[in-house]
Amino acid sequence: MRQFCRDRGRVCLAAVRRWPVWELPRWLVVFLSAVVAAYVVALGTALPAVPPTLHVGLLLGVLALCLTATVELTRREGDSAGLSVNVFGVWLLPIALLLPPFYVMAVLIFHYTLLQLRVRQFVLYRRAYNAAVMGLSYAGASLTFHAVTGTGFSSAGSLVAHPVRWLIAVALAALTQWAVNTALVGVALAGSQPGVRFHEAVFTKESARTDATELCVAVLVTLSIGVAPLSIVFAFPFVTLLQRSVRHEQLVSASRLDSKTGLLNAGTWEREAAVEVARAIRTRTPLAVAIIDLDRFKNVNDTYGHLAGDKTLQAIARVLQECVREYDLVGRFGGEEFALVLPQAGPVSAYSIAERIRDYIADLPIDVSPCQTTEPVHVTVSIGVASLGSAWDTRAGGQLTDLMAAADMALYQAKRNGRDQVCVITENRTFGTQTQRAFVPPTA
Ligand code: GH3
Ligand code: MG
Ligand code: MG
Repeated sequence: MRQFCRDRGRVCLAAVRRWPVWELPRWLVVFLSAVVAAYVVALGTALPAVPPTLHVGLLLGVLALCLTATVELTRREGDSAGLSVNVFGVWLLPIALLLPPFYVMAVLIFHYTLLQLRVRQFVLYRRAYNAAVMGLSYAGASLTFHAVTGTGFSSAGSLVAHPVRWLIAVALAALTQWAVNTALVGVALAGSQPGVRFHEAVFTKESARTDATELCVAVLVTLSIGVAPLSIVFAFPFVTLLQRSVRHEQLVSASRLDSKTGLLNAGTWEREAAVEVARAIRTRTPLAVAIIDLDRFKNVNDTYGHLAGDKTLQAIARVLQECVREYDLVGRFGGEEFALVLPQAGPVSAYSIAERIRDYIADLPIDVSPCQTTEPVHVTVSIGVASLGSAWDTRAGGQLTDLMAAADMALYQAKRNGRDQVCVITENRTFGTQTQRAFVPPTA
């Protein structure tokens, strides 16, 4: 029996050691644990001394029911596909504003358990952390609201007597919720995915619009509960519709991007690049395209595994985004091939941009941990560039496909010349005539 217990203990310990949370940096594990612990302590501290009144119980029950129904009715529309934008705040904010903070914190445990069981199996520590962050941020909103209105809980409070103060209190509460949530999510994001640009992940135009809409609907729901609690029935279809429209927007934007690198996918890149090429021809302005191919990338996969290969591709994608201007188009063209459109760039500046990228990548240590190596991986790239040139002859009828074919030839030449280099093809007249091609590092 003792042996059995000891074996069980060892199996459990081994299972705990395999938890994905241990792959995070140690400081981050401590930070995440501290936030979850703060949530548990806050929950215990906020526990009401007396059981909830019938009014509180009913209000909580109806709002929690609406929250659950929203999860159930929209669960097939994206969360399982990895999309996380939602408008659950429409129900959570009224709970935070109309009831003491304990209730919204408690509802969030129920809510996140439901998401885990019914929508998407997340790594457990991430679910727990998300629940803690939301619990603390909504508790903060609740405290702020009631501190500003100076009212007790369980009603729309001083709305009728002091509407301006009430609205200021709502705005401050929403701001508190947003600030706590953004700060805590930001730290976790920065620690777990160092390459992710925080402001781009959190402060997108789309998320600001969703948050603002969610807040407006949440305020309307809170107001309608204050005036006539049953009116919540009318808000419900509106909220599910809102959830669907948010998801739709997110799916449309996701369908433009390559899921591995976050760059434009090949289809989107080609569509947008064709528009740029047509514009450059129409306005007789220079434009260049570049095809970037990783050198002997198969070796990276074969030596360190595909996961390391994927991390390398992601690192290269980040470099490309950082090295070009805002209006350049960066896409993932194929497996380990990327493509750029450089409007307003003639052969000389296109060459210097490509050379800067090549040089930067050649010196870049790429962290692929926790893959098969702890050492940084180094790769080089070959780049083929083709340029329309400012003296473009419109009779040539240049199309994106012609430019791409030319860039591909330049790339082939770069590979043949020994890799880790840039080749440029300049052409002022027609494509397709071998004699008019020039593989050169152009001079100014
Ligand atoms: P070269 O210098 O001639 O371009 O050699 P290479 O090894 O890069 O070229 P090759 O076309 O022989 O191999 C490309 C490799 O890219 C093979 C494939 O396994 C890998 N690859 C393509 N897409 C992905 C991906 O999404 N992830 C990973 N890890 N590897 C990929
Ligand atoms: Mg290739
Ligand atoms: Mg390659």
